[in-house]
Amino acid sequence: MESEFQVQCPFCGEIIWMEFYPQDGASQETVIDCEVCCNPIQYSIEFLRDGEIRLRAERAQ
Ligand SMILES: [Zn+2]
Repeated sequence: MESEFQVQCPFCGEIIWMEFYPQDGASQETVIDCEVCCNPIQYSIEFLRDGEIRLRAERAQ
């Protein structure tokens, strides 16, 4: 299964590649600073049963 996902920074719009692995949990959340604008991005990813992936990148509070 693919482990690299493309997301867009909600602050500056930069495209970022992130790695997530389903063995780390079906539902994961992490906050990582954008490499470009240094703002904190909250990532939430869900690995669904049918192999679908739901990934969101939001502004961390
Ligand atoms: Zn950014």
